[in-house]
Amino acid sequence: MRILILSDIHSNLEAFEKYMELAEGRYERAVCLGDLVGYGPDPNAVVERLRQVTDAVIRGNHDKACSGLTDAGDFNLLARLATDWTRKQLTPENISYLRSLPEGPLVQEGFQLVHGSPEREDEYLFGAAQALPELRKATFQITLFGHTHRQGGFLMHAHGRFQTIHIPPAKDGLVETLELEAGARYLINPGSVGQPRDGDWRAGFAVLDQKAKQVEYYRTRYDLAVTQTKMMQARLPEPLIRRLELGR
Ligand code: ZN
Repeated sequence: MRILILSDIHSNLEAFEKYMELAEGRYERAVCLGDLVGYGPDPNAVVERLRQVTDAVIRGNHDKACSGLTDAGDFNLLARLATDWTRKQLTPENISYLRSLPEGPLVQEGFQLVHGSPEREDEYLFGAAQALPELRKATFQITLFGHTHRQGGFLMHAHGRFQTIHIPPAKDGLVETLELEAGARYLINPGSVGQPRDGDWRAGFAVLDQKAKQVEYYRTRYDLAVTQTKMMQARLPEPLIRRLELGR
């Protein structure tokens, strides 16, 4: 099975549509690691489109806050402003869909989905300090995670050596193929569709190919100016508009 992995779309419809265009014909099913909404200008359209293409979705911390399950009290001011705006935009139907999303880990055949980490949905796996303990106790060969908005991930080889998965900057399309080793354990981050923070503004995604035993990482440009204009018209905070072009 070829599985398309989506994460951290954050109401960015232009990035999402461009991504789905590039992914066309490259996957058999699609899963989502949460944060469908928050930050961007198109929460309803993104939720509705995502429901059409995915068959397994978990919630992220922004989905919880934007649907009113939590009060966004631990968010910074800008994230809180965007959360309040998103909450007002969402239709009752989309709010109840977001509220119905399960918390990870969500077990699939041969892998699991989490938003932050297997322990906590709002924990950031930035480096060895957080990732290594998770890999040591992992019961799955493959855990798919998001939340950091950084494409790549981590692995522990069969003999115990830890390694960070670096994705080189490359042209649009397939940028890296990771061969999965028997006996190794993986934390795979597909990158963020709608608000990358790894220094590259382009939408990131990944495909897990279970038969070929590999993960393919992709990047794609999208019409960023359209998203930014919509954000200005919605009067979303300026730094959130700027950060999209910086990939931070
Ligand atoms: Zn996120």
